[in-house]
Amino acid sequence: MNISFIPLCEPTIHGNEWFYVKKCLDDHVISSVGGYVERFEKVFAAYLKGDHPSPLFAVACVNGTAALHVALLISGVQSNEEVLMPALTFVAPANAIRYVGAWPVFIDVELRTGQMDVEKLHDFIRKKCEIRGGRLVNRVTQRIIASILPVHILGHPVDMEPLVALAKKYHLVVIEDAAQSLGALYKNKKVGTWGDIASFSFNGNKVITTGGGGMVVTADPLLAKKARYYTTQAKDDPQEFIHHEIGYNYRLTNIQAAIGLAQMEYLNDHLTMKRRLANFYDESLIKVEGIKPFGKSLDAVSSHWLYTVVVDKDSYGMDSRELLFRLREKKIEARPLWHPLHLLKPFRSCYAHQIEVAEYLYRHSLSLPSSVGLKMEEQKRVVEAIRGC
Ligand SMILES: *Cc1c(COP(=O)(O)O)cnc(C)c1O
Repeated sequence: MNISFIPLCEPTIHGNEWFYVKKCLDDHVISSVGGYVERFEKVFAAYLKGDHPSPLFAVACVNGTAALHVALLISGVQSNEEVLMPALTFVAPANAIRYVGAWPVFIDVELRTGQMDVEKLHDFIRKKCEIRGGRLVNRVTQRIIASILPVHILGHPVDMEPLVALAKKYHLVVIEDAAQSLGALYKNKKVGTWGDIASFSFNGNKVITTGGGGMVVTADPLLAKKARYYTTQAKDDPQEFIHHEIGYNYRLTNIQAAIGLAQMEYLNDHLTMKRRLANFYDESLIKVEGIKPFGKSLDAVSSHWLYTVVVDKDSYGMDSRELLFRLREKKIEARPLWHPLHLLKPFRSCYAHQIEVAEYLYRHSLSLPSSVGLKMEEQKRVVEAIRGC
Protein backbone atom coordinates (compact mmCIF):
# COMPACT_ATOMS: atom_id res chain seq x y z
CA MET A 1 0.00 0.00 0.00
CA ASN A 2 1.20 3.48 -0.82
CA ILE A 3 0.77 5.42 2.41
CA SER A 4 1.65 9.09 2.62
CA PHE A 5 4.35 10.61 4.83
CA ILE A 6 3.06 12.45 7.92
CA PRO A 7 5.40 15.34 8.83
CA LEU A 8 5.91 16.62 12.35
CA CYS A 9 4.71 20.15 11.80
CA GLU A 10 4.33 21.88 8.48
CA PRO A 11 2.85 25.27 7.63
CA THR A 12 -0.66 25.82 6.30
CA ILE A 13 -1.19 28.43 3.61
CA HIS A 14 -4.84 29.44 3.27
CA GLY A 15 -5.49 32.00 0.54
CA ASN A 16 -4.93 35.62 1.43
CA GLU A 17 -1.16 35.03 1.50
CA TRP A 18 -1.31 34.83 -2.32
CA PHE A 19 -3.41 37.94 -2.57
CA TYR A 20 -1.25 40.12 -0.31
CA VAL A 21 2.04 38.96 -1.84
CA LYS A 22 0.68 39.66 -5.32
CA LYS A 23 -0.39 43.10 -4.14
CA CYS A 24 3.12 43.66 -2.75
CA LEU A 25 4.65 42.75 -6.11
CA ASP A 26 2.10 44.75 -8.10
CA ASP A 27 2.75 47.81 -5.90
CA HIS A 28 6.55 47.34 -6.13
CA VAL A 29 6.89 47.26 -2.34
CA ILE A 30 9.18 44.27 -1.87
CA SER A 31 12.06 45.47 0.34
CA SER A 32 11.80 46.54 3.98
CA VAL A 33 10.42 49.96 3.00
CA GLY A 34 6.68 50.06 2.43
CA GLY A 35 3.48 49.59 4.35
CA TYR A 36 3.28 45.83 4.93
CA VAL A 37 5.92 45.56 7.65
CA GLU A 38 4.26 48.35 9.62
CA ARG A 39 0.81 46.83 9.18
CA PHE A 40 2.02 43.42 10.29
CA GLU A 41 3.60 44.99 13.38
CA LYS A 42 0.40 46.87 14.23
CA VAL A 43 -1.86 43.84 13.77
CA PHE A 44 0.51 41.68 15.82
CA ALA A 45 0.75 44.19 18.68
CA ALA A 46 -3.04 44.68 18.72
CA TYR A 47 -3.58 40.91 18.88
CA LEU A 48 -1.25 40.49 21.86
CA LYS A 49 -2.58 43.54 23.64
CA GLY A 50 -6.18 42.30 23.50
CA ASP A 51 -8.28 44.48 25.76
CA HIS A 52 -5.46 45.31 28.15
CA PRO A 53 -5.16 49.06 28.63
CA SER A 54 -1.44 49.74 28.15
CA PRO A 55 -0.13 50.10 24.59
CA LEU A 56 2.20 47.52 23.09
CA PHE A 57 4.83 47.90 20.37
CA ALA A 58 6.04 45.26 17.93
CA VAL A 59 9.20 45.41 15.81
CA ALA A 60 9.53 42.85 13.01
CA CYS A 61 12.85 41.03 12.46
CA VAL A 62 14.32 38.62 9.92
CA ASN A 63 13.86 35.65 12.27
CA GLY A 64 13.21 34.69 15.88
CA THR A 65 16.89 34.36 16.73
CA ALA A 66 17.54 37.93 15.52
CA ALA A 67 14.51 39.03 17.58
CA LEU A 68 16.10 37.42 20.66
CA HIS A 69 19.42 39.10 19.89
CA VAL A 70 17.70 42.50 19.64
CA ALA A 71 15.66 41.80 22.80
CA LEU A 72 18.91 41.14 24.67
CA LEU A 73 20.62 44.22 23.18
CA ILE A 74 17.82 46.53 24.37
CA SER A 75 17.53 44.78 27.75
CA GLY A 76 20.77 46.40 28.84
CA VAL A 77 22.57 43.14 29.66
CA GLN A 78 26.32 43.69 29.51
CA SER A 79 29.14 41.51 28.33
CA ASN A 80 30.12 38.92 30.99
CA GLU A 81 26.86 39.29 32.87
CA GLU A 82 24.52 36.31 33.20
CA VAL A 83 21.02 35.45 32.02
CA LEU A 84 18.94 32.76 33.72
CA MET A 85 17.21 30.39 31.29
CA PRO A 86 15.82 26.84 31.15
CA ALA A 87 18.13 23.91 30.28
CA LEU A 88 15.49 22.23 28.11
CA THR A 89 14.74 24.31 25.03
CA PHE A 90 15.86 25.00 21.49
CA VAL A 91 19.41 26.40 21.37
CA ALA A 92 18.53 29.83 19.90
CA PRO A 93 18.10 31.78 23.18
CA ALA A 94 21.39 30.43 24.57
CA ASN A 95 23.16 31.39 21.35
CA ALA A 96 21.62 34.88 21.43
CA ILE A 97 22.86 35.37 25.00
CA ARG A 98 26.39 34.61 23.75
CA TYR A 99 25.96 37.05 20.81
CA VAL A 100 25.88 39.91 23.35
CA GLY A 101 28.86 38.48 25.26
CA ALA A 102 26.73 37.39 28.22
CA TRP A 103 26.49 33.87 29.68
CA PRO A 104 23.48 31.64 30.16
CA VAL A 105 22.89 30.05 33.57
CA PHE A 106 20.78 26.93 33.20
CA ILE A 107 17.80 26.18 35.43
CA ASP A 108 15.93 22.86 35.54
CA VAL A 109 12.37 22.36 34.27
CA GLU A 110 9.16 21.02 35.85
CA LEU A 111 8.49 17.31 35.40
CA ARG A 112 4.79 17.76 34.65
CA THR A 113 4.87 20.54 32.05
CA GLY A 114 8.52 20.67 30.96
CA GLN A 115 8.56 24.42 31.63
CA MET A 116 11.28 26.35 33.49
CA ASP A 117 10.96 25.49 37.20
CA VAL A 118 10.43 28.76 39.05
CA GLU A 119 10.88 27.12 42.46
CA LYS A 120 14.29 25.84 41.41
CA LEU A 121 15.05 29.28 40.01
CA HIS A 122 14.28 30.70 43.45
CA ASP A 123 16.35 27.95 45.07
CA PHE A 124 19.32 28.93 42.89
CA ILE A 125 19.00 32.60 43.88
CA ARG A 126 18.69 31.74 47.58
CA LYS A 127 21.56 29.27 47.72
CA LYS A 128 24.06 30.52 45.17
CA CYS A 129 23.58 34.28 44.88
CA GLU A 130 24.07 37.41 46.93
CA ILE A 131 23.38 41.11 46.51
CA ARG A 132 26.37 43.35 45.90
CA GLY A 133 25.91 47.04 45.28
CA GLY A 134 22.24 46.50 44.56
CA ARG A 135 22.93 43.81 41.91
CA LEU A 136 22.32 40.10 42.12
CA VAL A 137 25.63 38.21 41.83
CA ASN A 138 26.18 34.50 41.17
CA ARG A 139 28.68 33.49 43.89
CA VAL A 140 29.86 30.48 41.88
CA THR A 141 30.93 32.46 38.83
CA GLN A 142 31.25 35.91 40.44
CA ARG A 143 29.20 37.36 37.59
CA ILE A 144 26.31 39.83 37.80
CA ILE A 145 22.91 38.39 36.87
CA ALA A 146 21.08 40.80 34.58
CA SER A 147 17.93 39.04 33.48
CA ILE A 148 15.68 36.00 33.32
CA LEU A 149 14.81 34.51 29.94
CA PRO A 150 11.89 32.08 30.32
CA VAL A 151 11.04 30.05 27.22
CA HIS A 152 7.42 28.94 26.87
CA ILE A 153 8.12 25.56 25.28
CA LEU A 154 5.77 23.48 23.13
CA GLY A 155 2.95 26.05 23.38
CA HIS A 156 2.54 25.98 27.16
CA PRO A 157 3.24 29.01 29.36
CA VAL A 158 5.88 29.22 32.08
CA ASP A 159 4.58 30.01 35.58
CA MET A 160 5.06 33.74 35.07
CA GLU A 161 3.54 35.31 38.20
CA PRO A 162 6.15 34.05 40.70
CA LEU A 163 8.87 34.50 38.06
CA VAL A 164 7.99 38.17 37.52
CA ALA A 165 7.80 38.66 41.32
CA LEU A 166 11.35 37.27 41.67
CA ALA A 167 12.56 39.49 38.85
CA LYS A 168 11.05 42.57 40.52
CA LYS A 169 12.58 41.68 43.86
CA TYR A 170 16.08 41.28 42.41
CA HIS A 171 15.86 43.97 39.69
CA LEU A 172 16.16 41.55 36.79
CA VAL A 173 14.80 42.25 33.31
CA VAL A 174 12.39 39.57 32.04
CA ILE A 175 12.74 38.56 28.38
CA GLU A 176 10.13 36.02 27.26
CA ASP A 177 10.98 33.69 24.40
CA ALA A 178 7.48 33.04 23.08
CA ALA A 179 8.63 31.58 19.74
CA GLN A 180 6.66 28.36 20.26
CA SER A 181 3.67 29.78 22.07
CA LEU A 182 1.95 32.55 20.14
CA GLY A 183 -1.65 32.71 21.35
CA ALA A 184 -1.08 30.91 24.66
CA LEU A 185 -2.59 32.45 27.80
CA TYR A 186 -1.37 32.50 31.37
CA LYS A 187 -3.94 33.76 33.89
CA ASN A 188 -5.99 35.14 30.98
CA LYS A 189 -3.13 37.31 29.73
CA LYS A 190 -1.22 36.44 26.59
CA VAL A 191 2.22 34.98 26.72
CA GLY A 192 4.67 37.65 25.55
CA THR A 193 3.01 40.40 27.62
CA TRP A 194 4.20 39.27 31.06
CA GLY A 195 7.83 40.31 30.86
CA ASP A 196 9.59 43.53 29.88
CA ILE A 197 10.42 42.32 26.38
CA ALA A 198 9.28 39.30 24.35
CA SER A 199 10.35 37.65 21.14
CA PHE A 200 8.44 35.51 18.64
CA SER A 201 9.36 33.42 15.60
CA PHE A 202 7.55 32.90 12.30
CA ASN A 203 9.73 30.07 11.09
CA GLY A 204 7.98 27.49 8.90
CA ASN A 205 7.06 25.14 11.74
CA LYS A 206 5.75 27.73 14.23
CA VAL A 207 2.11 28.64 15.04
CA ILE A 208 2.06 31.12 12.15
CA THR A 209 4.77 31.56 9.52
CA THR A 210 6.26 34.17 7.20
CA GLY A 211 8.71 31.67 5.74
CA GLY A 212 11.23 33.15 8.13
CA GLY A 213 10.62 36.00 10.51
CA GLY A 214 10.46 37.18 14.09
CA MET A 215 9.06 39.91 16.31
CA VAL A 216 10.27 41.87 19.32
CA VAL A 217 7.44 43.06 21.56
CA THR A 218 7.50 45.52 24.45
CA ALA A 219 5.18 47.95 26.24
CA ASP A 220 8.04 50.45 26.61
CA PRO A 221 8.08 52.92 23.69
CA LEU A 222 11.76 53.76 24.25
CA LEU A 223 12.78 50.10 24.12
CA ALA A 224 10.69 49.66 20.96
CA LYS A 225 12.46 52.63 19.39
CA LYS A 226 15.81 51.15 20.33
CA ALA A 227 14.83 47.79 18.85
CA ARG A 228 13.94 49.48 15.57
CA TYR A 229 17.26 51.36 15.70
CA TYR A 230 19.31 48.17 16.09
CA THR A 231 17.40 46.31 13.37
CA THR A 232 18.12 49.11 10.85
CA GLN A 233 21.91 49.48 11.19
CA ALA A 234 21.68 51.99 14.09
CA LYS A 235 21.18 54.96 11.79
CA ASP A 236 21.50 58.26 13.66
CA ASP A 237 21.52 60.44 10.57
CA PRO A 238 20.14 58.66 7.51
CA GLN A 239 21.20 61.43 5.11
CA GLU A 240 24.81 61.70 6.24
CA PHE A 241 25.08 58.01 7.25
CA ILE A 242 26.04 58.67 10.84
CA HIS A 243 25.94 55.69 13.20
CA HIS A 244 26.76 56.05 16.89
CA GLU A 245 26.50 52.33 17.59
CA ILE A 246 26.99 48.95 15.92
CA GLY A 247 23.73 48.10 14.19
CA TYR A 248 22.29 45.12 12.35
CA ASN A 249 20.38 44.53 9.15
CA TYR A 250 17.58 42.58 10.79
CA ARG A 251 14.44 44.08 9.23
CA LEU A 252 11.76 41.84 7.78
CA THR A 253 10.87 42.38 4.12
CA ASN A 254 7.42 43.48 2.92
CA ILE A 255 6.85 40.19 1.10
CA GLN A 256 7.33 38.26 4.33
CA ALA A 257 5.20 40.77 6.24
CA ALA A 258 2.45 40.35 3.63
CA ILE A 259 2.47 36.59 4.30
CA GLY A 260 2.44 37.32 8.03
CA LEU A 261 -0.55 39.66 7.72
CA ALA A 262 -2.53 36.93 6.01
CA GLN A 263 -1.40 34.31 8.54
CA MET A 264 -2.60 36.54 11.39
CA GLU A 265 -6.11 36.36 9.92
CA TYR A 266 -6.00 32.58 10.39
CA LEU A 267 -4.27 32.53 13.80
CA ASN A 268 -7.45 31.76 15.72
CA ASP A 269 -8.25 28.92 13.30
CA HIS A 270 -4.72 27.56 13.81
CA LEU A 271 -5.18 27.63 17.57
CA THR A 272 -8.59 25.91 17.30
CA MET A 273 -7.12 23.18 15.10
CA LYS A 274 -4.16 22.67 17.42
CA ARG A 275 -6.50 22.40 20.41
CA ARG A 276 -8.63 19.85 18.54
CA LEU A 277 -5.53 17.79 17.71
CA ALA A 278 -4.37 17.89 21.33
CA ASN A 279 -7.81 16.86 22.61
CA PHE A 280 -7.96 13.92 20.23
CA TYR A 281 -4.46 12.76 21.22
CA ASP A 282 -5.41 13.16 24.90
CA GLU A 283 -8.54 11.04 24.51
CA SER A 284 -6.91 8.42 22.31
CA LEU A 285 -3.69 7.94 24.24
CA ILE A 286 -5.07 7.99 27.78
CA LYS A 287 -5.62 4.22 27.72
CA VAL A 288 -2.18 3.41 26.30
CA GLU A 289 -0.06 2.23 29.17
CA GLY A 290 3.35 3.89 29.41
CA ILE A 291 2.45 6.87 27.21
CA LYS A 292 1.92 10.01 29.24
CA PRO A 293 1.14 13.39 27.65
CA PHE A 294 2.85 16.49 29.03
CA GLY A 295 0.69 18.08 31.75
CA LYS A 296 -1.12 21.40 31.61
CA SER A 297 -1.29 23.83 34.49
CA LEU A 298 -4.69 25.08 35.60
CA ASP A 299 -4.06 28.76 34.94
CA ALA A 300 -2.75 28.09 31.42
CA VAL A 301 -4.30 27.93 27.97
CA SER A 302 -1.74 26.27 25.70
CA SER A 303 -1.32 27.01 22.02
CA HIS A 304 -0.50 23.27 21.65
CA TRP A 305 2.39 23.93 19.30
CA LEU A 306 3.84 20.39 19.46
CA TYR A 307 1.95 17.60 21.21
CA THR A 308 4.51 15.75 23.31
CA VAL A 309 4.41 12.54 25.32
CA VAL A 310 6.70 10.84 27.84
CA VAL A 311 7.39 7.19 27.05
CA ASP A 312 7.93 4.81 29.98
CA LYS A 313 9.85 1.82 28.69
CA ASP A 314 8.87 -0.55 31.50
CA SER A 315 5.13 -0.23 31.01
CA TYR A 316 5.07 0.62 27.28
CA GLY A 317 7.55 -2.01 26.15
CA MET A 318 9.90 0.23 24.19
CA ASP A 319 11.70 3.47 24.90
CA SER A 320 11.13 6.84 23.22
CA ARG A 321 13.82 6.30 20.55
CA GLU A 322 12.58 2.82 19.69
CA LEU A 323 9.10 4.30 19.28
CA LEU A 324 10.61 7.07 17.14
CA PHE A 325 12.08 4.50 14.75
CA ARG A 326 8.89 2.43 14.76
CA LEU A 327 6.90 5.52 13.76
CA ARG A 328 9.48 6.37 11.10
CA GLU A 329 9.02 2.91 9.58
CA LYS A 330 5.34 3.77 9.28
CA LYS A 331 6.21 7.06 7.57
CA ILE A 332 5.30 9.11 10.63
CA GLU A 333 7.70 11.82 11.73
CA ALA A 334 8.24 12.20 15.48
CA ARG A 335 11.00 14.08 17.28
CA PRO A 336 12.77 13.98 20.64
CA LEU A 337 13.00 17.16 22.70
CA TRP A 338 16.18 19.22 22.56
CA HIS A 339 19.46 17.99 23.98
CA PRO A 340 19.79 19.73 27.37
CA LEU A 341 21.79 22.87 26.69
CA HIS A 342 24.20 22.62 29.64
CA LEU A 343 25.55 19.40 28.05
CA LEU A 344 26.27 20.99 24.66
CA LYS A 345 29.87 21.86 23.86
CA PRO A 346 29.51 25.68 23.65
CA PHE A 347 27.74 25.83 27.03
CA ARG A 348 29.55 23.22 29.13
CA SER A 349 31.45 25.87 31.03
CA CYS A 350 28.25 27.72 31.99
CA TYR A 351 26.78 27.28 35.43
CA ALA A 352 23.91 24.78 35.57
CA HIS A 353 21.91 24.52 38.78
CA GLN A 354 21.16 20.89 39.79
CA ILE A 355 19.63 19.75 36.54
CA GLU A 356 17.84 16.40 36.59
CA VAL A 357 14.38 16.70 35.07
CA ALA A 358 15.58 18.29 31.81
CA GLU A 359 17.82 15.26 31.20
CA TYR A 360 15.03 12.83 32.08
CA LEU A 361 12.50 14.53 29.78
CA TYR A 362 15.06 14.74 26.98
CA ARG A 363 15.63 11.00 27.13
CA HIS A 364 12.01 9.91 27.44
CA SER A 365 9.93 12.40 25.43
CA LEU A 366 8.69 12.41 21.87
CA SER A 367 6.77 15.10 19.98
CA LEU A 368 4.04 13.80 17.67
CA PRO A 369 2.71 15.19 14.35
CA SER A 370 0.97 18.48 15.14
CA SER A 371 0.46 20.31 11.83
CA VAL A 372 -2.55 22.61 11.68
CA GLY A 373 -3.50 20.77 8.48
CA LEU A 374 -3.20 17.24 9.95
CA LYS A 375 -6.20 15.25 8.75
CA MET A 376 -8.30 13.10 11.08
CA GLU A 377 -7.35 9.89 9.25
CA GLU A 378 -3.67 10.83 9.53
CA GLN A 379 -3.98 11.48 13.24
CA LYS A 380 -5.77 8.14 13.64
CA ARG A 381 -2.82 6.52 11.84
CA VAL A 382 -0.43 8.05 14.41
CA VAL A 383 -2.57 6.83 17.31
CA GLU A 384 -2.88 3.34 15.79
CA ALA A 385 0.87 3.17 15.29
CA ILE A 386 1.45 4.05 18.95
CA ARG A 387 -1.23 1.65 20.17
CA GLY A 388 -0.11 -1.16 17.91
CA CYS A 389 3.52 -1.09 18.87
C1 LIG B 1 12.12 28.60 16.70
C2 LIG B 1 12.66 29.13 17.96
C3 LIG B 1 13.50 30.24 18.01
C4 LIG B 1 14.17 30.85 16.82
O1 LIG B 1 13.39 31.22 15.81
P1 LIG B 1 13.97 31.30 14.31
O2 LIG B 1 12.91 32.10 13.65
O3 LIG B 1 14.06 29.91 13.82
O4 LIG B 1 15.28 32.00 14.36
C5 LIG B 1 13.85 30.75 19.23
N1 LIG B 1 13.45 30.17 20.37
C6 LIG B 1 12.68 29.08 20.38
C7 LIG B 1 12.27 28.50 21.68
C8 LIG B 1 12.28 28.50 19.18
O5 LIG B 1 11.54 27.40 19.21
